[in-house]
Amino acid sequence: MTADVVAIDDALAQYDPVMGLEVHVELNTKSKMFCGCPTEFGAPPNTQTCPVCLGLPGALPVVNRRGVESAIKIGLALNCEIAEWCRFARKNYFYPDMPKNFQTSQYDEPIAFNGWSEVIVDGETYRIEIERAHMEEDTGKSTHVGGATGRIQGASHSLVDYNRAGIPLIEIVTKTIEVPPAKAAAVARAFVSQLRDLLLALDVSDVRMDQGSLRCDANVSLKPSGTTVLGTRTETKNVNSFRSVERAITYEITRQAAVLNAGGKILQETRHWHEDTGITTSGREKSDADDYRYFPEPDLVPVAPSREWVEEIRATLPEAPSLRRVRLQEDWGFTDLEMRDVINGNALEPIVATTSLGVSAAAAKKWWLGELARFANESGTDLDALPVGPAEVAEVQKLVDEGTLNDKLARQVFEGLLAGEGTPAEIMEKRGLALVSDDGPLLEAIDRAIAANPGVVEKVNSGKPAAAGALIGAVMKDMRGQADAAKVRELLNAKLGI
Ligand code: ADP
Ligand code: MG
Ligand code: ZN
Repeated sequence: MTADVVAIDDALAQYDPVMGLEVHVELNTKSKMFCGCPTEFGAPPNTQTCPVCLGLPGALPVVNRRGVESAIKIGLALNCEIAEWCRFARKNYFYPDMPKNFQTSQYDEPIAFNGWSEVIVDGETYRIEIERAHMEEDTGKSTHVGGATGRIQGASHSLVDYNRAGIPLIEIVTKTIEVPPAKAAAVARAFVSQLRDLLLALDVSDVRMDQGSLRCDANVSLKPSGTTVLGTRTETKNVNSFRSVERAITYEITRQAAVLNAGGKILQETRHWHEDTGITTSGREKSDADDYRYFPEPDLVPVAPSREWVEEIRATLPEAPSLRRVRLQEDWGFTDLEMRDVINGNALEPIVATTSLGVSAAAAKKWWLGELARFANESGTDLDALPVGPAEVAEVQKLVDEGTLNDKLARQVFEGLLAGEGTPAEIMEKRGLALVSDDGPLLEAIDRAIAANPGVVEKVNSGKPAAAGALIGAVMKDMRGQADAAKVRELLNAKLGI
């Protein structure tokens, strides 16, 4: 028997990984791609449907102008060419949650193609080539009931909800990505994460990986180090966090290396990612020749965006990410190294959002890269999926600025927030965290410190005021850290007549 996986370093010493990413983005249009049904998330099953998105005979679809506009926005932001004329195509296959038995998609005439995007990892910039970004519709959603795992195996019956059927999707497909092997998985993670930031800035999607409005399939193959012929790829489906993108790709590299080392062949197939065990398992075999019997959709007119419209949309695009980073670094006064930490830590957007609530960049960085990053790391979550967001950080920092908390106590408030103990006020109450700002208890503690340290008072009186520092330490200890040191110094100096 051979090992299932080899160590990642050994795999990367022998093989060069090649990746390709397919990212599905659910648009945030009010209505579906080809009908007027609403798109809100979480409505009761099958309440947002009509003859068009249920695929009833004779129903006629109409293209959502906003959907096309968003597709063009995304294409332009990814530096793509925008088709002067393109069509939808039917992709025929049977799936129970796809009511028409074909998906309205685009095939050889995508709306956007030949683009590129840049990602930064460890201070290095990598260029990712974009093959295309095309428009399509989402499918419905099946729920398998009665089994232990929620999978179809072992279920007694299945339910289908067509609310999601017909929601506009943009599929973004990269060309093959080849970067230094040791960086491969991190570059893929950074691409998805930075793509999310871009889509957020474009305001075209909620881009929630946990709710499925951003979904990533990761293609991976290996070839012997230094060679050029591509190996056979696997496609790991629906990886649902940035961190999982990196983990799933790393796992596939170690698994494929083991197969190849044992003289085996990689099967071209889809694979499922298992978040809990950190492995992928075999899905369905998938050959490039799979016949979807694509043909142009006869019920929809071609999409021919005028150049004027494209330029109008281009003019609404937000600042390019690379320029924005330079501007933010300048505004914030961060060094190159600090900025690199921020980007590597995926903390750029959280810091932007926090500073927009009136927090200084330095304070925002301190919390996001300190307390919160540590917690995210330890709990295996992405920074922006924590129960603490920019609003909470701003609230806690305000308490620090007011002198109600110091950094040490603030850290405990974050600990409470992350543990779900309630609002900052509730946590301070429960944990007894506020700084004591009343003069009364502070003066009592000062008296106790003076009584316990007669030698220090003598020194001060004999002309050595610096000796008073020892008393401040004693008072802070007495107050169990819950005092504002500046305030203690002020009261002590007054008492000692310094
Ligand atoms: P599919 O219909 O299988 O999803 P797509 O063209 O939509 O095909 O996406 C295929 C993805 O796989 C692209 O990102 C492409 O760059 C990538 N890819 C193609 N060949 C390889 C390979 N040998 N190794 C890794 N990735 C590959
Ligand atoms: Mg695809
Ligand atoms: Zn509908």
